Amino acid sequence: MDQPPAYNAEMPRQRPQLPSWTLTVVDAFDLTPGLRRVLFSTDRLADFAYKPGQDIVFFLPLENGETGRRHYTIRKLDRAAGTIAVDFVMHGSTPGPNFARQARAGDTVEVKGPRGRVVFNPDADWHLLTGDETCIPGILHILEEMPAGARAFAFIEVQDAGWHQPVETRADVAIEWIHRGNGPAGPSSVMLDRLSTFALPEGRGQALIIGETSNVRAQRHHLIGRGFARDQIASEGYWRPGRNGGHDHVDD
Ligand SMILES: Cc1cc2nc3c(=O)[nH]c(=O)nc-3n(C[C@H](O)[C@H](O)[C@H](O)COP(=O)(O)OP(=O)(O)OC[C@H]3O[C@@H](n4cnc5c(N)ncnc54)[C@H](O)[C@@H]3O)c2cc1C
Repeated sequence: MDQPPAYNAEMPRQRPQLPSWTLTVVDAFDLTPGLRRVLFSTDRLADFAYKPGQDIVFFLPLENGETGRRHYTIRKLDRAAGTIAVDFVMHGSTPGPNFARQARAGDTVEVKGPRGRVVFNPDADWHLLTGDETCIPGILHILEEMPAGARAFAFIEVQDAGWHQPVETRADVAIEWIHRGNGPAGPSSVMLDRLSTFALPEGRGQALIIGETSNVRAQRHHLIGRGFARDQIASEGYWRPGRNGGHDHVDD
């Protein structure tokens, strides 16, 4: 078998080859007024393995006729029903929401994944999870899958109470929905202000900080300022004004 070439700083960083899947729409419905769920099936569901918090990359039609990559979290995998649930924030007439709005049973879409380093650290004494609407699928799924005995604090920034959802979990979980009000989602101090008043529990915490990139960066720096080591924080920018698709590494 060929050996992979030794790493060379001048070599372009290769994207890992992610498995490809053709997903077929089974159903689509509004979960809450701003969040639309699409249920998918795939004929290779038995091979589909992932960790809560991971996402898949959708190849969606763009207005110019090309195809664009958009990341969406795996909200739930129901092996008995044979479905994968994905929840789309309906923030405008952009490729992601347009796809979810128009999705009809039998439609197909190409995706790659699962991807993402976000994993649960069982050694932590407690867990902190923060994010905005785009992070509801990831945060709720991680909380659902946390084992009994785990302790978690989740802060989710949303416009108003219309975004709240119940979550069933065996873990000891406190969820706080933080209302932004009528202002647009995006760069703001709403989450940072709340985090600043959060009294850190005893023991070693593990933080997952996701959402709009500048908000993620501000929270990461805040936690580092309060004594968090870098390996205690997993952070990723899920979107930012003016950026189409993709994601931002936030590791400074
Ligand atoms: C790992 C990962 C997991 C994610 N999981 C989910 C998920 O489960 N559900 C989900 O809805 N999103 C999720 N996102 C975020 C989603 O990929 C982005 O919001 C993406 O830009 C949406 O594509 P679009 O076609 O709607 O808009 P784009 O064409 O990408 O962007 C068009 C314009 O809309 C703005 N925009 C993008 N998203 C938002 C938003 N949420 N609110 C306001 N303005 C926005 C952009 O900044 C840009 O100006 C995830 C992102 C990552 C990286």
